[in-house]
Amino acid sequence: MIASKGYAAQTPTSDLAPWNFERREVGEFDVQIDIAYCGVCHSDLHQIKNDWFPGIFPMVPGHEIVGTVTAVGSGVTKLKVGDIAGVGCMVDSCRTCENCQEGLEQYCTVGSNQTYNSLGKDGTPTYGGYSNNIVVNEDFTLTIKDKENLAAVAPLLCAGITTYSPLRHWGVGKGHKLAVLGLGGLGHMAVKFGVSFGAEVTVLSTSPEKEAAAKALGAHHFVVTTDPAQVAAVKGTFNFILDTVSADHNMGMYLSLLKTNGVHIIVGVPSNPHAISAFSLIGGRRSLAGSGIGGIKETQEMLDYCADHGIVSDIEVIAFKDITASYERMVKGDVRYRFVLDLATL
Ligand code: NAP
Ligand code: ZN
Repeated sequence: MIASKGYAAQTPTSDLAPWNFERREVGEFDVQIDIAYCGVCHSDLHQIKNDWFPGIFPMVPGHEIVGTVTAVGSGVTKLKVGDIAGVGCMVDSCRTCENCQEGLEQYCTVGSNQTYNSLGKDGTPTYGGYSNNIVVNEDFTLTIKDKENLAAVAPLLCAGITTYSPLRHWGVGKGHKLAVLGLGGLGHMAVKFGVSFGAEVTVLSTSPEKEAAAKALGAHHFVVTTDPAQVAAVKGTFNFILDTVSADHNMGMYLSLLKTNGVHIIVGVPSNPHAISAFSLIGGRRSLAGSGIGGIKETQEMLDYCADHGIVSDIEVIAFKDITASYERMVKGDVRYRFVLDLATL
């Protein structure tokens, strides 16, 4: 086995703390990566707190991973020792179902193997990127062209692909009015992609103090959703809303902002079910949709797109000792716009 050290939650009520554990040996098609940076996703906090479902503990979160390849199995062709590689939210899938065959491993009908809080193909728990190393099948690694700013590339592995994928799927671009709901880790990437794809982008935010930063990200308009007059002014105006909100919110109000045939795409995952009146969809033949991360092929496409277009995440690099305080700031919406753990501080 390979010795690993990281930060783990031992139970849903304990804070993250140092923990030593073991990972599997590097198999024929495996790659071992020395992790340099790992982004902090709101999903990490949801999962260590059992917000969604009972988790597997001890839990080492982290699914926005970049680092250097230190070993490869004899059958590996995609990467070699010394290469920079990334790992996102999945480490394997059944590979044979209709969705896997189409490159939609995130919708694997058997259930993909997640990077943490999941079981691997061998039936043992997976541990994520808040740790010094990881062993992953080569097919679930990503290659990184942009080697200049690795800390800012890390969040692309989840926040990037989770917003890129739905915008591509629904063909959001020129001639569309896109509203990005919630300006956090996912939201700020949605603004960057929406602008890059040619859409007219409005940020819908509960935080008035984020307006200047939103415009600096490229957003054309900014609406403070706690101000009824500002909300009334944009009623019935958006083709798409990309909803990145992590907590309960008033879906009826947001759905009323869509044009006829508009689509509200959910990517944020509050712990409680949404309450939605049928009338809010019937009026204006609106659609309510959802989207989960993205497949490996599309994640690589997104990384290459970002490298070619100079897109990275806006980050604040943090030390491991500050992780709990950083979670508290994230819950308050006080992050511009992604915390990234520096593994040198472990
Ligand atoms: P984040 O950085 O905390 O951003 C969430 C943003 O939502 C906040 O910055 C805030 O923006 C807004 N917000 C928070 N509470 C709100 C409330 N009560 N009402 C309205 N807006 C509120 O989180 P993240 O890492 O971007 O993740 C966002 C959500 O997406 C999480 O639930 C996460 O688990 C989920 N997620 C889903 C997928 C997927 O595959 N679908 C992948 C990754 C993450 P303002 O200050 O601008 O209001
Ligand atoms: Zn995530």
